[in-house]
Amino acid sequence: MTTALALHARGVPVAILEAESEDRDRSGSRAIYVHGTTLHTLERVHPGLGENLVEEGIVWPTRRTCWRGKEVFKRTYDNPGGDGKFPHFTSVPQVRTEEYMHEALDEAGIEIHWDSAVETVESSPDGVYVETADGREWETPYLVGADGGGSTVRKEIGAEFDGDQSENSFIIADVNEIDDEEEQWPNERLFHYDDPAVGGRNVMLVPFTDGWRLDIQCIDGDDPEELVTDEKMREFVAEVMGEAYAEELYWVSSYKFLQVMADTFIDDDRRVLLAGEAAHLLAPFGARGMNSGIADADEAASAVATAYHSTIDAVARDEVELYAARREKAAEYNLNAAGQALEYLQGDNPATVLRKEAAASLADYFEPAGEYLDDAPYGPHDAPPIVSTGNY
Ligand SMILES: Cc1cc2nc3c(=O)[nH]c(=O)nc-3n(C[C@H](O)[C@H](O)[C@H](O)COP(=O)(O)OP(=O)(O)OC[C@H]3O[C@@H](n4cnc5c(N)ncnc54)[C@H](O)[C@@H]3O)c2cc1C
Repeated sequence: MTTALALHARGVPVAILEAESEDRDRSGSRAIYVHGTTLHTLERVHPGLGENLVEEGIVWPTRRTCWRGKEVFKRTYDNPGGDGKFPHFTSVPQVRTEEYMHEALDEAGIEIHWDSAVETVESSPDGVYVETADGREWETPYLVGADGGGSTVRKEIGAEFDGDQSENSFIIADVNEIDDEEEQWPNERLFHYDDPAVGGRNVMLVPFTDGWRLDIQCIDGDDPEELVTDEKMREFVAEVMGEAYAEELYWVSSYKFLQVMADTFIDDDRRVLLAGEAAHLLAPFGARGMNSGIADADEAASAVATAYHSTIDAVARDEVELYAARREKAAEYNLNAAGQALEYLQGDNPATVLRKEAAASLADYFEPAGEYLDDAPYGPHDAPPIVSTGNY
């Protein structure tokens, strides 16, 4: 959807082929944390879209961390979003983000062809030929494959995923906010190491508009299938957030996270580009999945727009190659960052375990030790490097 908006904004005619039906169910816990740069990108490609998300989302003022039942870090900011037009981040469930994107597509007059699963993709130096499951045939100068982790487009251009899977499973639940303001959990992001309330598992609690994301990391001997039942999860929710929240549980799932990227983001003819989860899958710590997918989409649109308007083949090819160079580098960077967070959370590196223990014992006297414990589960915060052509 971002690719389509970004192409339209650059004066390129565009259509979306979507495998599922218009009345599909998009339920399930997915992205909540939207980075400020993503808000800027969305606002740029469709004025008002970034603003809508800011209005819909929330910015929490407090970061708090506990270690085995005891608080080791807490900081509340007077102005947590910063002074810019857009906050540093906003927290809004992906279903709402997607609704705003659909509104933006309508406003821009961009058509979605529902029930149109791409089945075959054949590229040539002149363009791309696509067949969809309903038997229709499509011709287009350029195709952006933004068809998710199981991408058909990726397979059709012969690209392959390469990488690892997390060792631990994670149980992720979304919980509705309760009405009783007295009983409401404070508006804070909480990480609790080895929380005794849930059998010594790590717990992360993150607010979003009208709800909470509860993330529980399984430990050795856990059977995620047993923990993921509504009954067991209600118990966990009651232990972590209080009885009042137990009935508010609405989505629960268990994950092992893949950390993989395609061995190429473009086809041999420089006519097909992969973006988002079609190109890479990341563990969610650090919130780089949807955010980096939106960055891919915007850069893919920029490359396609220049290539599409270009009168010289070599210039068009170069733009597409530059897209791959930039976004493959960004994906490597994001994979590494999410991987650091994952390795920290899985905690099987003795040096990391020692560092955590030492920081926890110092946290009462030395604030940076508590801040380290608060920050580390999300991995590094910086953005991928900018890749230039290397020209002087
Ligand atoms: C628990 C969890 C928490 C997360 N938290 C965050 C977060 O806080 N911040 C963040 O940035 N990211 C987060 N993510 C990641 C984020 O949800 C994904 O990265 C993002 O949804 C990927 O978007 P996408 O458009 O690439 O793929 P998708 O959302 O999978 O969309 C792909 C689309 O292509 C369609 N499609 C598939 N095959 C075909 C075909 N053959 N033909 C036509 N259409 C097809 C699908 O129906 C779908 O509509 C989280 C993910 C999870 C699971």
